[in-house]
Amino acid sequence: MKIGMHVRVGGGYAAAIAHAKSIGCSAIQIFSTNPRSYRIPAVDAPGLDEFAKLREDAGLDPCVSHTPYLINLASDDPKIYKGSLGLLQNDLRIASRGRIRYVNTHLGSYGKRDRKEGFTAICRALEAALETVEPNVFLVMENSAGAGSLAGGTLEELGRIVETVDHPQLGVCLDTAHAWAAGYEINSAAGVDRFVSEAAQCIGLDRIHLFHFNDTEVPLGANRDRHWHIGEGNIGFEGFRALLARPELHEKTAILETPGTDSDDERNMQTILAIARGAAAA
Ligand SMILES: [Zn+2]
Ligand SMILES: [Zn+2]
Repeated sequence: MKIGMHVRVGGGYAAAIAHAKSIGCSAIQIFSTNPRSYRIPAVDAPGLDEFAKLREDAGLDPCVSHTPYLINLASDDPKIYKGSLGLLQNDLRIASRGRIRYVNTHLGSYGKRDRKEGFTAICRALEAALETVEPNVFLVMENSAGAGSLAGGTLEELGRIVETVDHPQLGVCLDTAHAWAAGYEINSAAGVDRFVSEAAQCIGLDRIHLFHFNDTEVPLGANRDRHWHIGEGNIGFEGFRALLARPELHEKTAILETPGTDSDDERNMQTILAIARGAAAA
């Protein structure tokens, strides 16, 4: 697997790339815009070109952009729905312009809305977003921790969206911490077996482009979204080793979104790379 990390770009692209490179990443994830704002800034074309060039020189490929957390494609509030679609389309435009292969998004929350109506709204939004997407960019939906009204908490629901929208550039990202919080017991080879088989059956492995590798300290099925250091939580070494040992996942990309400082980043990357080497040797 290509393994990388979510990096902050607040200090400029060059510093972000240097950090990713120094800790052993071969892929990278960023926030394309402020993750907590609906404001759509102008596309910085020279900046994107520079970023693409720096990534290429550093051998960081693919690049993933994570859309703002505010996005809610299931909302019945027209302002929120339109704003969300606007942000999603903007990130897809940036990705097309900046040779960013994956745009990863959360789907949002049904709130008090009828789930069927909300589901239809999500599918309509994804269809609209995919209308203008360049052929080299994929839109990937991230599974949620499955709290009450959050959309995308199950493999089955993500699979139904993939099937309904039926667009070759729509894919899925599986976040391990979210999966655990949603009740998927991926802390052993047997648990990972069940998870991967269910993902293959409900979604299709060809549609699963991306993983977020995060450990977590919350109990199984707790529906809480909390990321923790690799190997130091409930998924543990066994869970990640089992995922990394699956030959059918070797072409996929995994991004760490673990918390902490630059030295925590370095430790987490070293841990996951060591697990990957162990899995390859086994
Ligand atoms: Zn996310
Ligand atoms: Zn994630």
